[in-house]
Amino acid sequence: IFGDERKNSAGVNIEIASQWQPFNESVQAFAQHQWLAGPIINGVAVTDSENTFAVTAPYDRRESVGTVAFANQEQVKQAIAIAAGTFPQWSACPASERAECLQRLADLLEAHTGELVALCHREAGKTIQDGIDEIREAVDFCRFYANQASEEFAQPKSVMGFDGTTRQLSYQGRGVFACISPWNFPLAIFLGQVSAALAAGNTVVAKPAEQTSLIAFRAIELMLEAGVPAGAIQLLPGTGAEVGAPLTADTRIAGVAFTGSTETAQRINRSLAARDCEPVPFIAETGGQNAMIVDSTALPEQVVRDVVRSAFASAGQRCSALRVLFIQQDIADRVIGLIKGAMAELSVGRPELHSTDVGPVVDATARDKLLTHIQSLKNQATLVAQATIPATCQYGDFVAPSAFEIPSIDVLENENFGPILHIVRFKANELDQVIDQINHTGFGLTMGVHSRNERTYSHIERRARVGNCYINRDQVGAVVGVQPFGGQGLSGTGPKAGGPHYLYRFTQDCVEAQ
Ligand code: NAP
Repeated sequence: IFGDERKNSAGVNIEIASQWQPFNESVQAFAQHQWLAGPIINGVAVTDSENTFAVTAPYDRRESVGTVAFANQEQVKQAIAIAAGTFPQWSACPASERAECLQRLADLLEAHTGELVALCHREAGKTIQDGIDEIREAVDFCRFYANQASEEFAQPKSVMGFDGTTRQLSYQGRGVFACISPWNFPLAIFLGQVSAALAAGNTVVAKPAEQTSLIAFRAIELMLEAGVPAGAIQLLPGTGAEVGAPLTADTRIAGVAFTGSTETAQRINRSLAARDCEPVPFIAETGGQNAMIVDSTALPEQVVRDVVRSAFASAGQRCSALRVLFIQQDIADRVIGLIKGAMAELSVGRPELHSTDVGPVVDATARDKLLTHIQSLKNQATLVAQATIPATCQYGDFVAPSAFEIPSIDVLENENFGPILHIVRFKANELDQVIDQINHTGFGLTMGVHSRNERTYSHIERRARVGNCYINRDQVGAVVGVQPFGGQGLSGTGPKAGGPHYLYRFTQDCVEAQ
């Protein structure tokens, strides 16, 4: 929507030695670094309190990464009061000036790529490529929303009515937005929400996931350095119960941007509905039970490449990741055989190593939940393949990438947020039944289709109720401004992040008739 000059962040190409070497040195400079984090209220960081926790690395729990102080109830109230007090001033600031702050933030993020990638390894267990992609996406969100705000909100729009009269339509911030984010994109989603809310003229109280507070803290430090006023952005690290719940229950909150599980979204929805005040926007981007359908015309080698990336990249910890692969019976043995072979080649290990394909999961709770699921599958499924976890990973939270054949998608009750692939065979005449079963889960985030028959993939695309449908490619890694991203049904309210309508949900539009 912004013409030809718009580009996504270039990132780092680690296959080119001249880019890899300086990048790797800049990451290694933070290999031993200890970070401190805590609430940032009115620009003041509080990193020591009674509520302080040690942060350790997901790939080796003996390795210390830093400490984080969680916010208390008093700080929640204080942060909201300061954000509410700053709202008139920030919303009156020209959209172009708000946008400039976010453009400077994008530049600062790129300048600090080494440190931020090191944080992504050490706090979130992200691999090198995932770390680079994380920074790129965060940069893209800041620039995308900044550009859109300065182009679309700087001046009121003249709207000509069919009766010949003209009215001025302007977009303003709504008040204090609560931005609540998950740990799996600790910088990109965190800053995506915050930058959209700020660009639209709101002030923000941000609650990052408890597992990735250090990354969020550095991001807000950079945001303040970029010129966002101290009163406009408040950071409250802490748990959902102790910080998230009182935040969304507070009647001064004028809107909530949330990304996380469907269950938490439902909890927040109930909390907002119970408030004795005006209804407010609730943007929820939630979980999925993402499927891929492969028919007998598909190219098996391409299918396997895309299945392995969709299911196991980022240790399966992407909301878009493939969970259930439906393969037409005629080519199922061939494709499953190739998947086995590809999984035998997957390298599980420490995320900072160039050779690692799959790193750890985020914490022991996530690991135990996934292992319980694997255990439960053993009674109703056949193990197809399981990658090996090397002995060097014994002190980390690793789950072996695993593939199981299951009789039906109905075996799965919940989203399993990790490197576990479920495979279901279907017959040619069962295609519509398969699509209906996928729709019947109620989730509707991503879907992959592999077919060389245009009628088949067009039919699936039309009938499937999903937010993002990917044809003859993998189904992860949506690019800001190129593939707007978000789900339907249990997977989210929309509008799609990184798309043309997202920013408008953070605004109040006012009409001035002439
Ligand atoms: P989560 O457990 O739902 O947590 C998300 C955020 O909500 C965290 O900051 C969490 O705090 C907070 N929270 C928990 N209870 C709360 C409450 N009662 N009130 C307010 N906030 C509360 O999700 P997660 O495990 O972090 O992330 C994984 C999930 O996110 C998966 O389901 C994945 O599919 C989904 N996801 C969706 C998208 C998308 O675009 N659709 C993108 C990424 C991830 P804590 O610190 O206590 O956890």
